[in-house]
Amino acid sequence: MTTIAFIGVGNMGGPMAKNLLKAGHAVRAFDLSAALLSAVAEAGAAKAADVGDAVKDADVVVTMLPAGSHVRSVYLDKGGVLGSAKKGALLIDSSTIDIDSARAVAAEAEKAGFAFLDAPVSGGVGGAEAGTLTFMCGGSEDAFARAKPILEKMGKKVVLAGGAGAGQAAKICNNMLLAISMIGTCEAFVLAEKLGLDPQKLFDIASTSSGQCWSLTTYCPVPGPVPTSPANRDYAGGFAAALMLKDLKLSQAAAQSTGAVTPLGAEAAQLYALFAAKGNAGVDFSGIIRMLRGQA
Ligand code: NAD
Repeated sequence: MTTIAFIGVGNMGGPMAKNLLKAGHAVRAFDLSAALLSAVAEAGAAKAADVGDAVKDADVVVTMLPAGSHVRSVYLDKGGVLGSAKKGALLIDSSTIDIDSARAVAAEAEKAGFAFLDAPVSGGVGGAEAGTLTFMCGGSEDAFARAKPILEKMGKKVVLAGGAGAGQAAKICNNMLLAISMIGTCEAFVLAEKLGLDPQKLFDIASTSSGQCWSLTTYCPVPGPVPTSPANRDYAGGFAAALMLKDLKLSQAAAQSTGAVTPLGAEAAQLYALFAAKGNAGVDFSGIIRMLRGQA
């Protein structure tokens, strides 16, 4: 049984910590929210008083925090993970953050003698609850080999993408592609509607033609063709536009800092910013079809 410190037990971290408990691990949790901490304590976690208290006896530390600034603070501040974890502990950050922060924390962790892995996830709250997340990891082969059995308790696919920051890079490249393909799929349906083409016919043809993509065949933005897609429940649940916007902003910051030319990524970021600003931050990202129709 491995003792695991879990820091950040919000929408994602809460169910992930519960899956570690279910797998028989001892979990010592910390969150700034007392209510969220009590919720995981009810499932069997020990409550820690602060970050240092959470990590001091842990073999493995998992963090699931909102953004790079929180991750830098939790790892690097006085009384933080690097100053308090025991020698040889494995550190895993599963938050989605900017690559510069991921690499900076990885470098400091290495200097302090710790193995560190960036391991952002896809799969959303549903995947966190079901234990079916995908983990995209960046770090050494050795750190990955140690982390894999732990991550497999929370996910169904665990991939090493490369060195430090590669997990974050894979996540933002994937989500930039997803945003672009979703907007493209929506535009095709909007044009089809204007042309009087039955959306089911467009689906039947495009899903077996060169327009085929995940946004069409798994997450179809119009109701009907894929009964499980959020379009069939008024775009509730799913992957909130605000989270897509966060990932697109990270992709654009990375494009700027590396000089990569991503005009469609930039346009997607602007469209999702507009969609979120119009009161749709909590709406599933496929709901952007409404804005393209002039309805949102
Ligand atoms: P959340 O806001 O629900 O949870 C984050 C938690 O971190 C909060 O409970 C907050 O109190 C806690 N926290 C912040 N600073 C802290 C500190 N200094 N010490 C201890 N706790 C602290 O967010 P979430 O939806 O669980 O997302 C977490 C991460 O996962 C984000 O980086 C997000 O982008 C990523 N993510 C989310 C989803 C999703 O569908 N929600 C999907 C994939 C990835």
